[in-house]
Amino acid sequence: QPLDQYAVIGNPVAHSKSPLLHAAFAAQCQQAICYRALLAPPDSFAATVKQFINDGGRGANVTLPFKLEAFNLCTALTPRAQAAGAVNTMCFEGQKIIGDNTDGCGLVSDIVRNAGVTLQGKRILLLGAGGAARGAILPLLECQPAELIIANRSIEKAQQLAEQFSSFGQISSSEFAQIKGQFDVIINATSASIAAQIPPIPDTAYNSNSLAYDMMYSDQPTVFMQHAAKHQAQTRDGWGMLVEQAAEAFYVWRGMRPDTSELLTRNMSRAI
Ligand code: NDP
Repeated sequence: QPLDQYAVIGNPVAHSKSPLLHAAFAAQCQQAICYRALLAPPDSFAATVKQFINDGGRGANVTLPFKLEAFNLCTALTPRAQAAGAVNTMCFEGQKIIGDNTDGCGLVSDIVRNAGVTLQGKRILLLGAGGAARGAILPLLECQPAELIIANRSIEKAQQLAEQFSSFGQISSSEFAQIKGQFDVIINATSASIAAQIPPIPDTAYNSNSLAYDMMYSDQPTVFMQHAAKHQAQTRDGWGMLVEQAAEAFYVWRGMRPDTSELLTRNMSRAI
């Protein structure tokens, strides 16, 4: 019997850790699957997906720059993909493509389960209003924080998101410089860390009980994490989010939830 086929589709994609994460999950859960990285040419995402389905593909993850294109290609969407406006996980059933999004759920799992931080009743500051921020909003509001404030360089994008999600909880927007008070959790969902920049939020936003979470991950603390640590905040990078979004995708496809604890340690992230 041929192995069930899965892939991560992106461009570039060779750097992706997803094949290694899913191989580890498959071994642990004794699932006979094959998961590989699939490079799609910039203008051929849909053709790459169709070819993969014809070759027996059962599901795929989607990474940059195709999450929006995947959203438009799907024939059905889960509520969390609908809310995120982007798809990172696809299930193929005949000619049907069901789109899901596990990124936001991965973030919340990492903060709540792995870091042990309760979000209910807390003040949360979300920096950024791109795809990653948008996907995080609904899962964060489902934890019933006291308040979720979105701050973004282009303020109109933050305002739009706050308005769109206003019926799901206590949510508002702010300019970086206008941010008031202290926050229990500050999440950096901007891509500023890639350019070694820090969103210009007031130093008074942090206290010694704050968790400063950067969605980006690297072997070294990001500049955002270094800055937050100077203000006594606890820090965490996005490695756990990546592991947890993958575990959730594995659950969507295989109905089994892998134990992520070994993959969460930094040594393991360097090793793979
Ligand atoms: P987008 O390109 O969709 O959005 C980028 C956001 O960053 C925008 O809000 C933009 O603001 C803001 N931004 C960019 N540069 C700066 C800067 N110098 N100062 C302040 N704000 C800035 O990116 P994504 O949402 O897809 O990704 C954001 C980050 O999240 C990336 O670092 C990515 O690696 C990470 N990520 C991590 C995941 C994980 O599993 N760990 C999963 C998904 C994403 P403006 O609107 O004003 O341009």
